Amino acid sequence: MDKLFTPITINGMTLKNRIVMPPLHHLYTPDGVMTERFAQYYYKRAEGGAGLIIIGGCRIDEFGGAAMMLDVTKPSFVEDCKVFTDGMHKRGAKVGLQMYEAGRYASTKDNEKTIAPSAVFSKFTRETPNEITKEEIDIVIKRFAEAAAKVKAAGFDVVEIIGSAGYLISQFLSPVTNKRTDEFGGSWENRTRFPVLVIKAVREAVGPDYPVMIRVAGNDFIPGSNTNEDAVKFAKIAQDAGVDLIDVTGGWHETVVPQLPGDLPHGGFAYLAGAIKKAVTIPVMASNRFNDITSAKKVLALGMADLIGFGRPLIADPELPNKVQAGREDIVRNCIGCNQGCLARTFFRRPIECTVNAYAGYETQLIKKPADKKKKVLVIGAGPAGLTAAIELADRGHSVTVWEKSDKAGGQIALAATPPGKSDFNLFAKYLKNMCAEKGVEIVYCKEADKASVLAFGADDVVIATGSNPVMIDFPGNKKDVEIVSAVDVLTNKAFPGANTVIIGGGSVGCEVAQLLAEESTISPELLYFLSIHQAETPEKISSLLNTPNRKISIVEMQKKIGAGFDLGTGWPVLKQLARLGVKSYTLTKVKEISDGAVIVADEEGKETKIPADTVIVSVGYRSENKLYEELKDSTNVHVIGDAEKPAKILNAVAAATKCALEI
Ligand code: SF4
Repeated sequence: MDKLFTPITINGMTLKNRIVMPPLHHLYTPDGVMTERFAQYYYKRAEGGAGLIIIGGCRIDEFGGAAMMLDVTKPSFVEDCKVFTDGMHKRGAKVGLQMYEAGRYASTKDNEKTIAPSAVFSKFTRETPNEITKEEIDIVIKRFAEAAAKVKAAGFDVVEIIGSAGYLISQFLSPVTNKRTDEFGGSWENRTRFPVLVIKAVREAVGPDYPVMIRVAGNDFIPGSNTNEDAVKFAKIAQDAGVDLIDVTGGWHETVVPQLPGDLPHGGFAYLAGAIKKAVTIPVMASNRFNDITSAKKVLALGMADLIGFGRPLIADPELPNKVQAGREDIVRNCIGCNQGCLARTFFRRPIECTVNAYAGYETQLIKKPADKKKKVLVIGAGPAGLTAAIELADRGHSVTVWEKSDKAGGQIALAATPPGKSDFNLFAKYLKNMCAEKGVEIVYCKEADKASVLAFGADDVVIATGSNPVMIDFPGNKKDVEIVSAVDVLTNKAFPGANTVIIGGGSVGCEVAQLLAEESTISPELLYFLSIHQAETPEKISSLLNTPNRKISIVEMQKKIGAGFDLGTGWPVLKQLARLGVKSYTLTKVKEISDGAVIVADEEGKETKIPADTVIVSVGYRSENKLYEELKDSTNVHVIGDAEKPAKILNAVAAATKCALEI
């Protein structure tokens, strides 16, 4: 049974559907107080049809907050938030707030003092927190209770306690971070004491008839820490202590098991929620990587959870619930799991954006209005920039035609989607194509544009989105017995590298190509499954097949490190796989020549190494393809966007295209 759009009541709060936007750091409140940017962003998501939207995390004390988060302790909090919650209710959504307490994940940059069960160094902040005293434990519990009362007074429908991802409550629960010898450490009962006291204090502060939820790690995914079995035990304790709903996520921030990237299959951590659901009688929510609706519907149908957390999917498309309910899944703008606009920016304390949705976070600035004068617009190039511009232009009432020189739409999205774990990028190409059809954009394929044909078309405005081409270098040497190709050749299956491959350029593309080539020379996921279910090989043999590529890959990079160009927090899963697969990197190293089946490189001291190579892949960047723009710029209203203006990420292309389309 499809339960996604059936209502559910949780301690008196009735949600119209099972779609929940969980708390995410947006950094739209630089001073800790409500802003128009924050409110309008969330109003849009409420209008889009989500049943429940939980804002936060929000600061509740002087110990455990993070930069630019809404602060419950500010004097204006209740008054400001009453207006906000009213606005959310008018738009049809219930709204909750997460009380944040980071413990050893809090930084001294943002707090008077950092606290944790024990003074255990945090890899996340690179700091060692202070061991919390018993007096401070009482203070923090009191702060949770005070904050919960204010949350209720401000008109929120539910309050969430943060007990996930390695934050303070997780730290008390874990033997890895809780080394105390008093009544708050040691035995399981002692380690659960602090969370239970917090839940009870919150319950007392809000009364019996107000919904309280807790977010937990379904498995810490930290060696020696709590497992899914422990999470089940804790869920039962949390239920007995007074929570009404358990939101189950994956592991801690410190874990080396990816939690959010495309490596994690859609709904991959639902099994963690499923185990908890079997053990408790209160509703359970499953979170992490529900980028597609089908996996969410299946989890609900199987009874593994009662609610589904759609975080990034609602950044990418606030209208997702309305579209799905109307049977228009084909025009949902799916999150592609890139983390470039959202997660990566929070590390730099920058407000979040979205690769596929230029409006996210700019609801007060990017205002789409019908065009004053309906124009005939020609867009050259059906990549992410060209198609985004075309859709936005058509949406404003212009008549839009796109000329594409190949027989496919999507441009370089297909390249970005080829490395392991990146296939969700294809969803964006599909969306762009479907939306062009929806908005009446005509795409003419296999159509080369030149100055004469463009001028003959007679457009009022021309948008040049002709993309970029890979930079190739003519290296010295006789190049005998070596095939030299570009990363694009490999990603488009025009080149088939051999058993000894050298990649020149260790940026993000070079690293992703290395991972692709190393992984494809082991066993496929299908073969792994086949061998496993039939127990055809021993676990040791399977492990060996999985971890031993049949291709030797070396990366030559002039910089100190490979992986420059990955946004912070997005490259480590790739680098982890390169290490597992034995990819060798030569850093601070230059290519001297390519001769006689080898690449000869030299390090900073001039020491030479000969790397055997049958294939050399050049991955040193892209150059704009903007010849047409140069030819046309003086003769018509012409605009250049995306890689044709400056090679960059899809995020930049989409943002530039949207801005350009709103100005024509
Ligand atoms: Fe999803 Fe990427 Fe947008 Fe983040 S930036 S919401 S990961 S598409």
